[in-house]
Amino acid sequence: MRKHFLLSCSFLLCMTAVAQAPHKWAVVLHGGAGVIERKNMDPKTEAAYRASIHAALEKAADTLDKGGSALDAVEAAIRMMEDDPLFNAGRGAVFTATGKNELDAAIMDGSNLKAGAVAGVTRTRHPISLARAVMEKSLHVMLVGTGADEFAASHGLEMVDPGFFFTERRWQGLVKELQREGKPIPPRPAGAPPAPGKPVAEIGPPDAHKFGTVGVVALDKQGNIAAGTSTGGLTAKMWGRVGDSPIIGAGTYADNRSCAVSGTGTGEYFIRLTVARTICALVQYKGVGLQAAADEVIQHQLTEMKGDGGVIAIDTKGDMVWSFNTPGMYRARVAEGGKPEIEMYRDQP
Ligand code: ASP
Repeated sequence: MRKHFLLSCSFLLCMTAVAQAPHKWAVVLHGGAGVIERKNMDPKTEAAYRASIHAALEKAADTLDKGGSALDAVEAAIRMMEDDPLFNAGRGAVFTATGKNELDAAIMDGSNLKAGAVAGVTRTRHPISLARAVMEKSLHVMLVGTGADEFAASHGLEMVDPGFFFTERRWQGLVKELQREGKPIPPRPAGAPPAPGKPVAEIGPPDAHKFGTVGVVALDKQGNIAAGTSTGGLTAKMWGRVGDSPIIGAGTYADNRSCAVSGTGTGEYFIRLTVARTICALVQYKGVGLQAAADEVIQHQLTEMKGDGGVIAIDTKGDMVWSFNTPGMYRARVAEGGKPEIEMYRDQP
């Protein structure tokens, strides 16, 4: 009896120790998928992307290392990328066909399935922080347009004039795309600098199908995972068009019981396939491994539908994966005690 009691005690102690053992943190991020090919990338542009991705990864890693939550890490890294004109999020976002920047973002907490999302915001500097405010300070999951911007202002978030998001590179991208589609070119937006006399050098691969949406998934020391995504959507999108990034279950999803996912690509396909949630459901209900689940949805389901893009995903064990069917995806990952990996092309060594 006594032996049995001792055995159960040590078993219990052991279980408590396991339950309390701090998790090793881990983080994966993406900066968009698309036609990102070595042959089109000059060394200067590649170095610029590498530096930006590295800085954002470091920001998330630092946050997690100091004991910050997965949500904090996701938000902090995405805020950096929203301010970085290299990415299609915040400043540097692509334009709608009517010449506006309409921004979408979402964040989800895998520990309690709370989520916040915003779509079509035009005046909030950091849409990811607004998504978090919707999650934490409203009764709702999603706010759109003017209402979302007003919510941001009323909660003290930093507001900017819409011209803040303007970059010449994205404007030229819009002009090119509208010319290709034979559509009228809208006037330059208010607050934009005067048009440059000579053409602006293209940064990155010369193709409209380079995206630049940003996303982060993280695991913190408490063992919780979170996901976040922020984007300007697609170049020359229709006024009011909403992509997958802010749709919970499509471009963004997190659940401690399965995984956290952020996607990038042509959002219409991601919405129809509920890409992020389907990956998590495969893990949760079918016991499929994280890489296999991401590949099933991206390499098979999305590809068969002729959709394009990719995902990053993480789970509470610290598995960090990505899968994409485009020529490239800006992506990076690092786990506690490990070396950061930064990749761009499909044929990465
Ligand atoms: N998925 C985004 C959208 O469709 C775009 C992207 O990821 O590049 O809005």
